[in-house]
Amino acid sequence: MDERHAPESIVPDRRDSLAARLRRAFSVVLVGIGVTALVSAGVFGYVFLKARPEEHRLLLAGQEARLAHLAMVDQETGIRGFLLSGQRQYLEPYLSGTRDLRTEEALLVRDIGGDRGLAHLLIDRRVAEQAWFDQWATPAVQGQPLRDPAQLDAFVASGKTLFDAYRQKHAVLTTAVDARRNRAINAEGLALGVCAVVELAVLLATALLARRQSRRLEAVVVPPVADLVDVIGRVRDGDLDARVSGDGPAELHEIGVGLTEMTEALAEARRLSEARQEELAEQAERLNRVLTMSREVAGSLNLKYVLRAVVTSTVSLGPFTKVVVWLLDEPETRLYVAYDSSVTAGRVGTVEELELGRDLVGQAAQYGRTMTRGVDNVFRTVVGHDMEVSGVAVPMVVGARVIGVLKCFAEPPAAVSPMTIEVLETLASQAGTAVEAARLHERTEQLSQTDALTRLFNRRRLEADLEAECYRATRYGRPLAFVMLDVDHFKRFNDRFGHQRGDEALEMVAKVVAESARDSDTPYRFGGEELAVLCRETDAAGAAEFAERLRAGIERRLKPEGITASFGVAAVGPGTSSPGELVQAADKAMYAAKHAGRNQVAIAGASGVDQPAKLN
Ligand code: GH3
Ligand code: MG
Ligand code: MG
Repeated sequence: MDERHAPESIVPDRRDSLAARLRRAFSVVLVGIGVTALVSAGVFGYVFLKARPEEHRLLLAGQEARLAHLAMVDQETGIRGFLLSGQRQYLEPYLSGTRDLRTEEALLVRDIGGDRGLAHLLIDRRVAEQAWFDQWATPAVQGQPLRDPAQLDAFVASGKTLFDAYRQKHAVLTTAVDARRNRAINAEGLALGVCAVVELAVLLATALLARRQSRRLEAVVVPPVADLVDVIGRVRDGDLDARVSGDGPAELHEIGVGLTEMTEALAEARRLSEARQEELAEQAERLNRVLTMSREVAGSLNLKYVLRAVVTSTVSLGPFTKVVVWLLDEPETRLYVAYDSSVTAGRVGTVEELELGRDLVGQAAQYGRTMTRGVDNVFRTVVGHDMEVSGVAVPMVVGARVIGVLKCFAEPPAAVSPMTIEVLETLASQAGTAVEAARLHERTEQLSQTDALTRLFNRRRLEADLEAECYRATRYGRPLAFVMLDVDHFKRFNDRFGHQRGDEALEMVAKVVAESARDSDTPYRFGGEELAVLCRETDAAGAAEFAERLRAGIERRLKPEGITASFGVAAVGPGTSSPGELVQAADKAMYAAKHAGRNQVAIAGASGVDQPAKLN
């Protein structure tokens, strides 16, 4: 059958198992072999069990009949010799022939006595033979010898007639036996021939059927196998999108399904591995940024610089839109904003303070643990994988002490991985150490520039500030004034009330000065009971006004205790452009105020003559 015209004969059983198909293909061959074997067995059974024994029997029968006939001829010859000679010695062949005839006839009866087609011919022959015996041979041997030649001739002639009758029956028998034998031989040949033809036909049919089955098998198996091999090759070369068509026998279909599943698992594993690799690379990059920041701030003792570097680095790490550094104040009960990435240059807009334990930042500081605010507004200490958060507060821990909190905002909320949190914690730890070092440095620096009693800047700081401000004022032509004040008769005060009271009085004076000073004014303890104020962007008149306000404040607050002060005011101008000249001018003016009666302000005049200014 042409497969192109009968596709449905293949398509419906495409899912048949390969084993069933092979069994079917093999069963065709088996049936062929079985039919051939059956035909062979039948034919050979017939030949060896029937035809050959028959042939052999008929062959023997033919030979026996001929030998029996020879015995008959011997008898006849012996009798004739005896009749013609009258001598009994001529009967010898007759006697031996009689014995042989008996033997051969017994054999003939054995071989064809039971054969329906031949038995009656054997009987006919035996009857003719017996007639020859009874009517001629026995009287010839046992009767009186015939003397009369005419009688003898007649007797011999009758014997010949009887023998001819026997010979004719014998010829009929042998002819029939030979014919039967020939028929048997022919039948055997025919059976073998038919057997050969039938076997050839069966073999041919088997071969054709087997070939057809093999072709169908090939058509069903080869393309899916080729497809499988192709897909396996592509998968081996890294193409994990390769898929088998899924056609073919059940086993190949199953292999295809298994291969697809394996490929999908491989693709998934590759995707995970790539994502992991990407994540690791990102993490390495983040840690590198932390390391860079760490190196950057390690050498710096400038708190502002450290804070800026920390915040910039944090913003660059992840999905954060704003980062604020909160630091714990001295008594460590409150937090204040030290740096805010959203405010220009990080300067803090409004002074924000927070109690420990309050809000996300307060909790992170109190428990020393990273806290996140989820989109549900719930605070959590643990971050699940890629959780959406709107804020993360990471404590900056130095030793076992929290020194501040790094607050990262995500607006809108963003996914933050545990890895990002880990990096943030590393960064916060590095930042904490740097911030602490800078703060410590700043505090030490401040202490070294601050007077312990009055908590005003000391002389050292004054000299540095004067240097910078004088330079700025002369360079840019900006006004700058310097005010000096000296407590009046302080020695007397000390003597009267003791040094302790003197210190307290001095502290009070400093407090009044510090409270009265504007943002642009800096008060200093000049030395002993002398204080000074550097007034930026202020001319002599402005400074004198300020000094008068101070003088009045001290008078109002401390005069009842017996404390007043005298003031000298000088401004940067021709002849007073250097720090030394400015201080000297103010000092000189102050002494002028002392001379003029104390508790008053004197301005250093341009003419070099100090003018006590009675403003009150
Ligand atoms: P005058 O009005 O001329 O300035 O008189 P005076 O006594 O204030 O001036 P003087 O320079 O003679 O004395 C300054 C005194 O200030 C001497 C010193 O005992 C006292 N003094 C300086 N520093 C301190 C301080 O830190 N504490 C106390 N209690 N007294 C101080
Ligand atoms: Mg003095
Ligand atoms: Mg004094």
